[in-house]
Amino acid sequence: MEFMTGMVVQDYVTIRLPFVFVEVLHSIWKNLSNEKQEFGLYLRGSFNPETLEVTVEEDYYMPDQVTSPASIKFSEAPPDQTYNIVLHRHPAGCKHFSSVDSESINKEFMASILFIPPFDFPQAVVNIPIARGVKLQVPGAISLFSADADGALARIEKHVVKTILERPTLSLALRKQLSNSAEEFAEEFASKGSIHT
Ligand SMILES: [Zn+2]
Repeated sequence: MEFMTGMVVQDYVTIRLPFVFVEVLHSIWKNLSNEKQEFGLYLRGSFNPETLEVTVEEDYYMPDQVTSPASIKFSEAPPDQTYNIVLHRHPAGCKHFSSVDSESINKEFMASILFIPPFDFPQAVVNIPIARGVKLQVPGAISLFSADADGALARIEKHVVKTILERPTLSLALRKQLSNSAEEFAEEFASKGSIHT
């Protein structure tokens, strides 16, 4: 049986993360007294149901926390509800949320992101409210972006579209050359009956 309703079906949400976090996280990681120590921070973001994207703001909140190479205990809640995303670091090779993550932070925040130094974001989840007290959890795919680069990109696209739509104008010399080639081609075709390439 075949259905063609044109319905968009997507089984993940894109999390647009400002590129600046690559530098921030790298710097925190490098400057910890023990490079293997975990750490976490709170971010702010908004979910757009039309584009199925979460866009993360550039600021963050570093809560007081007690950490080891295998655990984090946040001693401080987010300062307000706008900090609705949590990001934490795992040691190299631990590319999945732990069962503790799944039962705690991954439920409490709108989104949860895993970071592995130097700059890998191997897993993320997004919780979409679907009824009172009920959220649907879907995988998140990290997409790094830079507001400056987005602005620059928009200009390039505009330029490309304009170039494509405008009829190309040939210089007089080029037009003459093309018309000469066409004449030569016609003569060659007439003399041989076919053209071999
Ligand atoms: Zn974890």
